[in-house]
Amino acid sequence: MAKILYVYNDQVYANITNKCDCACTFCIRSQMDGVGDAETLWHTQEPTLEEILAAIDAFDFTGYREFVFCGYGEPTCALENLIASARYVKEKTGLPIRLNSNGLGNLYHKRDIVPELAEVIDSISISLNAPNAEEYNKVTRPSFDNAYEAMLDFAEECGQKLGHTQLSIVDVLSEEDQKACQAIADKRGVHLKIRKFEQGA
Ligand code: SF4
Repeated sequence: MAKILYVYNDQVYANITNKCDCACTFCIRSQMDGVGDAETLWHTQEPTLEEILAAIDAFDFTGYREFVFCGYGEPTCALENLIASARYVKEKTGLPIRLNSNGLGNLYHKRDIVPELAEVIDSISISLNAPNAEEYNKVTRPSFDNAYEAMLDFAEECGQKLGHTQLSIVDVLSEEDQKACQAIADKRGVHLKIRKFEQGA
């Protein structure tokens, strides 16, 4: 059975959905079934809110420093469960709560979800992946035509409403592309995180 909560280093990760509106060429889901202490992160059925809260109740949070919504899917595709479980974890543990996202939540839900996220999420990391729409579409293969611009608008709004917002890229991009990504992040008023590329991550 797939894990809803799993651990990696000193963080607790929540795998609340396998739905996603992208098909990234580098997605870890196509390379391995699990991460950290989870053998598989593929759910046989989408977890219900009751199941997510039960997993949180059963978990010993002692010694962990952050709770991260991530997993084998895009957490904002399960928005109601994301908001409710984030609120529950915050009340129960007081841990900082981070969301790793593709930044397409407003497109997916056809409305502005950032104010709801801002109520319960402390920080967000949004995959920028590329310095322009053409490259972005090639690597993330989103379900929407205008995904790149919408993702950047989403990031900018998160930058205004959440405690911390970052756009992320990996260091396989050329120096020129990294500089272009830095300029985009600066223009949108958010931090740029350049992650080290790790096979399978
Ligand atoms: S957005 Fe995340 S979960 Fe979805 S395909 Fe891309 S890497 Fe995988």
